[in-house]
Amino acid sequence: MLRITLPLQKQVTPVPTISRVAIIGGGFTGATIARLLALHGQYWPHEIVIFEPRADLGGGLAYDTNDPSLRLNVAAHRMRAVPGDPQAFLRWLSNSGRLGRDPGAMANGAIYARRADFAAFMAGQIQPFIDDGIVRHVRERAERICRRHGRWQIEGDGGAALQADVVVIATGHPPPTPPGELASHLSVDHRFMPDPSRPEALSAIRRDDKVLVVGAGLTALDALGALRARGHRAEITLVSRTGYLPQPQAAGDFAPHGDFLIGVPNTALSLLERVRFALREVTEAGLPWQSVFEALRHQGQAIWRALPLLEQRRVLRHLRRRFEAHRYRMPPQIAELVERDRIAGRLKTCAGRIVAVRPGRAEIAIDIATKPHGTVERHAAQWVIVATGPDHGNVIGSQSCLAELESLGLLTKDPRGLGIACDHDSRALARDGYPVEDLFVAGPLARGAFGELTGVPEIAAQAERIAQQILAMSVATTRTITIRSM
Ligand SMILES: Cc1cc2nc3c(=O)[nH]c(=O)nc-3n(C[C@H](O)[C@H](O)[C@H](O)COP(=O)(O)OP(=O)(O)OC[C@H]3O[C@@H](n4cnc5c(N)ncnc54)[C@H](O)[C@@H]3O)c2cc1C
Repeated sequence: MLRITLPLQKQVTPVPTISRVAIIGGGFTGATIARLLALHGQYWPHEIVIFEPRADLGGGLAYDTNDPSLRLNVAAHRMRAVPGDPQAFLRWLSNSGRLGRDPGAMANGAIYARRADFAAFMAGQIQPFIDDGIVRHVRERAERICRRHGRWQIEGDGGAALQADVVVIATGHPPPTPPGELASHLSVDHRFMPDPSRPEALSAIRRDDKVLVVGAGLTALDALGALRARGHRAEITLVSRTGYLPQPQAAGDFAPHGDFLIGVPNTALSLLERVRFALREVTEAGLPWQSVFEALRHQGQAIWRALPLLEQRRVLRHLRRRFEAHRYRMPPQIAELVERDRIAGRLKTCAGRIVAVRPGRAEIAIDIATKPHGTVERHAAQWVIVATGPDHGNVIGSQSCLAELESLGLLTKDPRGLGIACDHDSRALARDGYPVEDLFVAGPLARGAFGELTGVPEIAAQAERIAQQILAMSVATTRTITIRSM
C-alpha cells in the first residue's frame, strides 16, 4: 500500500546565516576582532577561526618579540587597547608584576612598556576564548581564499581547509621592499638584511662592525636600540630620502590642541596652514607641539575624509614624511640613546638617494647622492639593513591569498597606494567598485579609506565597528526557515 504523507509546515528557531567568521592574521587587529565577537556570545557553538602562524595571538609583527630593548612608542596609559576599558593594559602591567620587573620602563613621567609585555597582555585577553573553544587558532598561514557555493573557502599552508561566511583580512604590515640598487647588488649577500623585523637576525653583527641602515623611521631606531643593547659600539649610519628622524615624545601629560573640524580643510595647503597656525598658538602658550599632533590623531579620520582623493594624494606626496616624523614619535629611552650616540659621533644620518652599491670582501661601499646638491658621498659598512618600513603599496602582491582575491575581482589596491581599497564600513571594494558585503579589511591595511589607522586606539575602535557590523549581519540575515517534515 502506498502511504502518502502530506508535508507539514513547521517553524523552527531562527538560525543565523553567519555561522563562521574567518580572520586572516592574529596580530593585535585580528585578535581584537575575535575577542569582541566572542564576548558577544552569539558564536557558541559556532566558530570564530583565526589563521595565524605565530604561536600566540594578539602580538603580531608589531609586538611578538622577546627582545627586551624593544619598547612601545606610546606611553602605556595612551595605548587604549581594549574597547570600553582604556586603562586595561596599564592596570595589567602593575597587577601582573611585569612593571616591577622592568625598572627601565619609567621615563619622562610615563611608562613605556616592553613590546613583549603588550603581546603577553593581548595573548591573555584572547586565551580564555580559545580555552572555551569559541575561538579556534589555526596555526597556519592562509594561502588561498576563494568563493565556493556562496561561502568563502580558506586554505592554509599546512593543509587546513575550511569554509566561512565572513572573512576579515587582518594581515597587517607587509615586508619592506628594498631600494632597487640594493636588491640588485646584494640580494644573495649574507651581509644584507632586507627585513630586520626579527632582531635575532642582528646577532650575526659583531660589536665593531660598521652598519648602514636604509631608513630613518621607528624601524631603523628599533635596529639601533637592539644593536646597542647587544653591546654593539661601532658607527651606525641612517640613510633616508629626507634625513628626518622621528621626533621625541613630550614629557608629562598634555591635552590635544586644535580643532580642525570647524571649517575642516579640504586641500593639502589649507590643512598645512591650519596646522602651522595651531603650532604657533601652542608655542605662544608654552605648550608642547606634540599636543597639535595629538589633536590631528584624534580628528585624523574626519580630516582625511574631508579631503578629495587628489588632495589626499598631495598630502602623501608633499607632507607625509614630515608628518610621520612628528606623528610616530620615539620613546624617551630611544631619544636618550640617539642623543648619546650622536654626541659620541657613533650615530650619523644622511639624506639622499643610493646611486651605487659595490660589495667588497671586507666592506660594502655605498654611494649616496646627498641632498640638497646631489654631491655623492661614499659610505662603507660591514652590514646593510633595510628599515624602510612596510611597503603598503605592494601588500596584495606580497600575499598569495590576497593576490587570488584580486584575480577574482573581489579585492583591489587602494588608489593612494596605502593598502587595500575599502569603504567607510571597512568592506573590501571589488573591481567593479562595489563593496563585498562579507569581506572586511581591518587594521593598517585599510588606512587609505580612514587615513589615521596605525596606532592601537584607532585600530581598536575600527575593530569594534567591524565586530558590530558582523553581529548585525547575523541578525539582519536571520531567516525564519521552513522545514518540511515527511
Ligand atoms: C614594530 C612596530 C611597532 C609598533 N609599535 C606601536 C606602539 O608602540 N603603539 C601603537 O599604538 N602602535 C604601534 N605600532 C602600530 C601597529 O600598526 C599597530 O599597533 C598594530 O599592532 C597592528 O596590528 P595588526 O594585527 O594589524 O598587524 P601586525 O602586527 O602586522 O600583525 C599581522 C599578523 O598577521 C599575520 N599574517 C600575515 N599574513 C597572514 C596570512 N596570509 N595568514 C595568516 N596570518 C597572516 C602575521 O603573522 C601577523 O602576526 C607598531 C607597529 C610596528 C610594525
